[in-house]
Amino acid sequence: MASHLLEVRDLCVDYITESGDVRAVDRVDLALGAGEFLALVGESGCGKSTLLFAIAQLLSPPAEIAGGSVIFNGRDMVTLGEKELRHVRWRDYSVVMQSAMNALNPMKSIAAQFKDTMDAHSEMSKKEIRDRSVEVLQLVGIDPVHLNSYPHQLSGGMRQRAMIAMALLFTPDLVIMDEPTSALDVVAQRSLMSQIKQLQEKLGFAVIFVTHDMSLVTHYSDRLAVMYGGQIAEASVTQLLFDHPLHPYSKGLLEAFPSIRGPRRVLTGIPGTPPDLAHPPAGCRFQPRCPVAMAVCATQEPELYTVRASKVRCLLYDPTIAAPEALAQ
Ligand code: SF4
Repeated sequence: MASHLLEVRDLCVDYITESGDVRAVDRVDLALGAGEFLALVGESGCGKSTLLFAIAQLLSPPAEIAGGSVIFNGRDMVTLGEKELRHVRWRDYSVVMQSAMNALNPMKSIAAQFKDTMDAHSEMSKKEIRDRSVEVLQLVGIDPVHLNSYPHQLSGGMRQRAMIAMALLFTPDLVIMDEPTSALDVVAQRSLMSQIKQLQEKLGFAVIFVTHDMSLVTHYSDRLAVMYGGQIAEASVTQLLFDHPLHPYSKGLLEAFPSIRGPRRVLTGIPGTPPDLAHPPAGCRFQPRCPVAMAVCATQEPELYTVRASKVRCLLYDPTIAAPEALAQ
C-alpha cells in the first residue's frame, strides 16, 4: 500500500441540509499507483463528482468530508489547511473540469490565465512563464498563436485542450478529470481521449477520470471503479470488468452503451432511477432496480467482497448466502 500515489480510505462526504445530512459518498476506498489511469463510472447522482471534488479538496458547503482520509504522496489532504493545499494544487495535482467554458475566465486570454496560475503557484520569470505557456499549448496540439485568444474564440475541443494544457503547467503527478469530454461530439471525444492517453504515457502522470459513459474509457483506463448510490459497486482491472462484470449494475451499464469495436447488438437500459440518497433503500441500494434481486437483498446491506482480482458489493458473492450458482458467475 505504501507505494501508492493516492490512497482514499473509508471516505465519507455529507451534504448538510436543513432536513438532515445526506451521505453522498459512503465509505469509499480507492488506491492509485503512479502513472495509473483510473476511471470512475456511474450515472448522474451516484456520487462520482462529489468523490472527485473530495479527493481534490475542492468541496464547498453544504458538502463536507464526514470521515476517512485522502493520502496523496504520503500526506493526508483532509488535514491540510488552505495555505498548505495551495502548494500542492496545480503543482502536484490538478483538476480539469467538465465544461471549459465555465472553468475558463471569459474575460481573459489563454496566456493571461496561464500566467495567473503560474504566478499563484511559482516564482517563474515572465520569460519562463511565456516559454512554458507555449510549451504546454504545443503539447496539446494547439498553435501557440492562440495564447492571445479568448475562450469564446476557440472551439469546444480546443477549450478542453487548453484546460488540459493548464492542468499540465507544472507537470503534476496526478490529473483529476471530471467528464472533460462530455460537451464534445463523439469524434472530438475520441480524439481528446487518445490525446490524454498519449500525454499520460509521455509525461507519466496518473489520471482519475470521471464519466457516465463506460464505453468511452474501455481502451484508455487501467482500472475501473463503478459507483452506485454513493458507494463503490465494483472495482477491477478494466479489461476484467469489461469481459466479466460481476455486479448486476455493471452488467446493466455495459449493456446500455454501444461498443466501438464489438458486434452490433440491441442496447438495453437499466429500468428505474438511482436512489434518493436522502432516503436510500434498506438492504442493497440497487435492489429496487436489480433484475436478479433475492429476498435477502431488501434487508441485508452487501459488503465489498473480494472475488478474484475484483471487489464487488453484491450479496450474490457473499459466501454465507446460498446465491443461485448461475447468477454469481
Ligand atoms: Fe442485486 Fe441483491 Fe446483488 Fe443488490 S445484492 S445487486 S439486489 S443481487
